[in-house]
Amino acid sequence: MNDMLKTAQNTIIKTGKAMGLAQDVIDRLVQPDGIHEFTLQVKMDNGKNKLFTAFRIQHNDNLGPYKGGIRFHPNVSRDEVQALATLMSIKCAVAGLPYGGGKGGIIFNPKEMSEGELERISKEYVRAIASIIGPTKDVPAPDVNTNGQIMKWMLDELIKINKKQLKKADLEKLKATFTGKPVKFGGTLGRTEATGRGGVAITEALLSKLKKEKSEMKVAVQGFGNVGYYFAKIASDRGMKIVAVSDSKGGVTGEKSLDIEKIMNCKKEKGEVAGCYCVGGVCDIQQGKKITNGELLELPVDILVPAALENVINKENMHKIQARIIIEMANGPVSEEAYDYLTKKGVLIVPDVLANSGGVAVSYLEWFQNMKGQVWSEEKVNKKLFGMMSDAFEEIWQTYTKEKSSLKQAAFETAIRRIIRKAK
Ligand code: GLU
Repeated sequence: MNDMLKTAQNTIIKTGKAMGLAQDVIDRLVQPDGIHEFTLQVKMDNGKNKLFTAFRIQHNDNLGPYKGGIRFHPNVSRDEVQALATLMSIKCAVAGLPYGGGKGGIIFNPKEMSEGELERISKEYVRAIASIIGPTKDVPAPDVNTNGQIMKWMLDELIKINKKQLKKADLEKLKATFTGKPVKFGGTLGRTEATGRGGVAITEALLSKLKKEKSEMKVAVQGFGNVGYYFAKIASDRGMKIVAVSDSKGGVTGEKSLDIEKIMNCKKEKGEVAGCYCVGGVCDIQQGKKITNGELLELPVDILVPAALENVINKENMHKIQARIIIEMANGPVSEEAYDYLTKKGVLIVPDVLANSGGVAVSYLEWFQNMKGQVWSEEKVNKKLFGMMSDAFEEIWQTYTKEKSSLKQAAFETAIRRIIRKAK
């Protein structure tokens, strides 16, 4: 069993025991409802067929349809997908959504494929899962290396499969089978920025509990992709001081707030964040310097936001972390050992299942609009997202302060309570 799955299951077992749940109830929460594994045969550009192993794992649907992304990556494995499906059940419950947890994946490197090959793989995957997905059954979304375009290809294929037997109104609703679609094809405004924006909402809710002024917070963000970039940009727009950012090649840090937009423009030009310091038009931030990803994590900041890879804060560097608040925007960026060590030292770590739940929360708003035939403004979506995030935070904070455990344990406890209340 891989580490991620072991950790996810152990956290459920540990929390279940602390809650005094019966062993059979805990066992049921650990075991997924269904594990679907497929072999896809797809024609490559060279005319030859290639086989791909693909999964859809449906963990628990007590609260509603299974929900969760589909990832394309050479390291996808059955264990990894199962771990992520399990965490989606927790994440959706934490966010107060009427969804269970699921996850999908295909083992391959999409960066080695042509666009046509990617489209054919995506569509073949839908032919495999067509009978187990649908707006009230299982609602996939983008995840690592998948995006709106891929959701659109998948939806087109699902419509093709169902065209004959469905009425026009039902075909409309079929759109709600996938979220994270391009806005033109039934997606919602605000979905792209949602994970980052949700993380900022959670951070603000925490700061207000701690009676800390956000304008006084020095923040370092690791990762400048869809999650890290929007977190940095939105947090900066809302008054926090972003003093360091990085991408996979390294980063920059400065005494004063960085100009996130300028760094993004520079990254587009140069291909990396490191070196975007005092280059071209970005020279108005003085006294800055290049840093490595490792150095970023150990900076003397108030808030650390690991928004890229898992396991970056671990037993090797946990003693050197200076931040008093960590917001887990990536999945599992703080190892189990480091989480316990830092929590004992009084560091507040907002767990991924809460911190990055803004993405799936806005997926729910997209699904809701599709089901009701509505189209909302971006302002409305963002306002709802802030409301959902602050409600989710409040509930977990209450449990946390009552139980004096960790925010992670409080999040899992809140989720498990909600899931078992709806047990069939
Ligand atoms: N893949 C994202 C996640 O892991 C979003 C899932 C969704 O929107 O359904 O949270």
